[in-house]
Amino acid sequence: MTQLDCLPSTATYRMRFAVLGSSSSGNASVLRMDPLVPGHGGTRQILIDAGLSAKATRGRLSALGYEFTETTDILYTHFDMDHARPHWSTPVMCHGITVRCARKHLPLAKARGLPTQFTHAFEGPFSLPHNIEVTPVDLPHDEAGAVAYRIKTPAGSIGFATDLGRVEPSLIEAFEGVDLLAIESNYDHAMQLESPRPAFLKERIMGGSGHLSNAQALEFVQAISRRRAPNRIVLLHLSRECNDYRVIEALWQKHAPELWSRVVIARPDDGIDVYDSESSATFPAR
Ligand SMILES: [Zn+2]
Repeated sequence: MTQLDCLPSTATYRMRFAVLGSSSSGNASVLRMDPLVPGHGGTRQILIDAGLSAKATRGRLSALGYEFTETTDILYTHFDMDHARPHWSTPVMCHGITVRCARKHLPLAKARGLPTQFTHAFEGPFSLPHNIEVTPVDLPHDEAGAVAYRIKTPAGSIGFATDLGRVEPSLIEAFEGVDLLAIESNYDHAMQLESPRPAFLKERIMGGSGHLSNAQALEFVQAISRRRAPNRIVLLHLSRECNDYRVIEALWQKHAPELWSRVVIARPDDGIDVYDSESSATFPAR
């Protein structure tokens, strides 16, 4: 046994985060907390959005070493089809999953067929077991708006924001100092303008209540990094038509080369591990 093996771990929980898929055809991520010492409760496995079918979610969770049946909560950002697929009522009821959404979105959750007896609506910050504190932040997105989350856990903090037309000061304030940032980087401005999309659609996306461009996402990261940059940054919801990995890399290399090594890009149709509080490989030292 080496000296390192003898050192007691001071962490009480392990926090893992993965994106299961991220595009306009389906968005879902998973945050999992496991106690590392006895007497600290069971596993908490939270899906952030359920925009894939339950079958696809099960498969992608399993490929990354997560068990679908251990899901305890679904936290919805909003109820567009790519974030809230129908036919989730059966898995929710079968596995006793708690659906959590903003009170203003409750009628939309019902319209998706989610069972009311399993749905908890929130109007402000709330707590979950394992000392998880969730702070919702309203985002401008189409008519119903979306919700970003700052999630503070004993093993690190996350800022999660997707489908936002613009960044407001409240989001910068809420996300300052997070360990892990998941942020939408939907389109490249020039590619959007040059695309064959109809003018009304371009206006909807770029008009301040649609999606965030690569440059806006980068500016946001710089704004929340004044005191300390996130250890890990995952870019979400890339447009297939109006975005490109190489364009994103060139942008970051030009304006924030020191942060580029912390960036991972979510895949549209496949899961990707993003963060593990117990692994130095995905959790760079501060
Ligand atoms: Zn979306």
